[in-house]
Amino acid sequence: MKIIRSIKEMQRISKNLRESGKSIGFVPTMGYLHEGHLALIKKAREENDILVLSIFVNPLQFGPEEDFHSYPRDERRDSELAKENGVDFLFFPSIQEMYPQPMTTTIKVKERVDVLCGRKRIGHFDGVAMVITKLFHIVQPDRSYFGLKDAQQVAVIEGLIRDYNFPIQLRTVETVREDDGLAKSSRNVYLTEKERRQAKYLYQSLLFGKDLIEKGERNPSVIIEKIKFYLSDRIEGEIDYIELYSFPQLKPINVLKKKVIIALAVQFSKARLIDNVILDIPDGA
Ligand code: AMP
Repeated sequence: MKIIRSIKEMQRISKNLRESGKSIGFVPTMGYLHEGHLALIKKAREENDILVLSIFVNPLQFGPEEDFHSYPRDERRDSELAKENGVDFLFFPSIQEMYPQPMTTTIKVKERVDVLCGRKRIGHFDGVAMVITKLFHIVQPDRSYFGLKDAQQVAVIEGLIRDYNFPIQLRTVETVREDDGLAKSSRNVYLTEKERRQAKYLYQSLLFGKDLIEKGERNPSVIIEKIKFYLSDRIEGEIDYIELYSFPQLKPINVLKKKVIIALAVQFSKARLIDNVILDIPDGA
């Protein structure tokens, strides 16, 4: 595995690989790798000749009150894990390399951001779209891999790839969970022991909602209210939102049909956790 810190060098390597007919799979991350990231890496490894992993904690996608400075980082461990898991090139740029001067052109995401995390995290998805655009131009992958844990991000990237004609296939990976159902996240390290015990109820509450739907409930507000009641009874964290939309359009719906997402965010003392389930509603059911 080779660690690349220079944009020019990464671009040169990717160009040469493409010219020699190799397919490139790309997994963008912010590091502090866990099994969720490794599932993306595994899938990308299987589907491509060459695997590029990027690690970059992107300041543009953090708000002023958010955890950019305290976001967990461990370069040595991440490099070892990347190597063990078959990464060919680890792209590890500095902030100075990625943003040598303020951007003169920005991207503003218009659709799919006035809901869920986008409602409070103003500008977050603009920052994501900008860094992913830069990374796509640097790595020039054939396929790029994203986790459905960040379903709103997947919806935004799907729009970005379509709007700007990136010749890149978007590949998604199911959320990887701890044994009790908690979605793996770099931010789980911030949970206190008590919060960690309660955190399993995030996914449990989503499964409770799924069960309501499977038993025939089709009214989104009834489903949301019942999940809220279930969850608020079991955790001390503050529920930021529980919402239900069409997926990937993220539009409100009156009656459930086709593909829907139930997503939630909970603020614990130091960690803000998100989770979701995406469901296919059978026709005429
Ligand atoms: P991050 O480093 O948090 O930006 O995540 C990098 C990629 O890993 C994103 O596409 C995430 O959606 C994905 N990811 C993070 N956690 C998980 C998980 N528990 N299961 C599957 N994918 C995940």
